[in-house]
Amino acid sequence: MAAEVTCLTATTVFNLDPIKKEVTCVSERGPETFQAKAILMATGCRESTRSALMIPGFRGQGILSTNEAQQYIHDLGVLPGKRVVILGSEDVGLSAVYALGKTDARVVGMVEEHSHLVGSRLFSLPTIVLRRVPLYTWHKINLILGNSSVEGVEIIALDQNGDPLPGTERTIACDTVVVSGKFVPENALPRQSGISLDERTSGPVVDQYLQTEIPGVFASGNLLRGVETGDIAALEGEWAAHSIQKYLQDSSTLTGHRVIVTAGEQVKWIMPQRFLSDASESPGFLATLRVNKRIRHGQIICGSDGEIWRSGKFRLLKPERRIRLNLHKWPKQILQESVELAIVT
Ligand SMILES: Cc1cc2nc3c(=O)[nH]c(=O)nc-3n(C[C@H](O)[C@H](O)[C@H](O)COP(=O)(O)OP(=O)(O)OC[C@H]3O[C@@H](n4cnc5c(N)ncnc54)[C@H](O)[C@@H]3O)c2cc1C
Repeated sequence: MAAEVTCLTATTVFNLDPIKKEVTCVSERGPETFQAKAILMATGCRESTRSALMIPGFRGQGILSTNEAQQYIHDLGVLPGKRVVILGSEDVGLSAVYALGKTDARVVGMVEEHSHLVGSRLFSLPTIVLRRVPLYTWHKINLILGNSSVEGVEIIALDQNGDPLPGTERTIACDTVVVSGKFVPENALPRQSGISLDERTSGPVVDQYLQTEIPGVFASGNLLRGVETGDIAALEGEWAAHSIQKYLQDSSTLTGHRVIVTAGEQVKWIMPQRFLSDASESPGFLATLRVNKRIRHGQIICGSDGEIWRSGKFRLLKPERRIRLNLHKWPKQILQESVELAIVT
């Protein structure tokens, strides 16, 4: 698609009217309203703050998100601190260790509530393994110490249910805490404009064309369900562009019998949450789900009264990894109003 796109930087959309397909923005040019035939929302996601994670202690200087820490290092060339504790061991936390490796700061601990490193083992090599960063799995930060600035953290071990084990508290001296991970979709615009959100993903409800429940309004990237790596967001953007092109040529091609897809036993969320069962194309890579906990030898079943589709067996399903489903293998004609996807072992 030949695109001559005008990119308005330093411009914030503060209102979206999905029916009129109007967006209202503000910038140094003042308020402006644009009307379109279709809208794509791709506002990404953000990390949960320390307050949202309910970590007690004063609001001292030196508590940062990974994003802020990386902005200090890459954009401003400023060292956020000398002794850093990172909360969370997802890939983004590992990327914070990597970025801090370019400074004089020392990462003196990575605290992870799960029983294992959540990020990729490969990425852990140049980050925590070679740099000998202590990884405290099955631990959480109990308290941030210091009044006007961070002086340390108190960490505590967790039992298998995630409950703190009294008596296991220990203190790590540090001047910076990087709170990483626990991403939430940046869903202020769809929420404000009445576009249906899925309470499990916190992103807009979409079908396999990444079209929301309002025709002509699409969503892609991390807004859909929280963080994935950049390549996934790019592929989704490409697919959304493909869908929008189809919509602009003939909007009736993106309509049809709409099946509600729900997350069943052991499924944390599934996306897309709607499925146009008589649609001609479905991108396999877009249908994804996550599980609640580690499951060995699991199999995904999709129940649709009488007709059950089963995936191949998975050796290990991990909550921190996205599971890809190939929609082409689903029952061709689902006549029911809804189907449920569940994991059986
Ligand atoms: C700290 C951090 C580190 C990461 N490191 C990596 C990495 O090393 N490798 C990797 O593959 N992925 C990484 N990711 C993930 C990667 O950034 C994303 O997968 C990818 O950028 C997602 O693209 P997106 O288009 O969904 O959202 P984003 O790239 O986040 O883009 C969303 C855009 O929408 C804008 N926006 C939001 N609301 C409004 C509004 N109301 N008006 C106007 N504009 C708005 C934002 O300013 C932003 O520019 C990282 C993410 C974070 C947060």
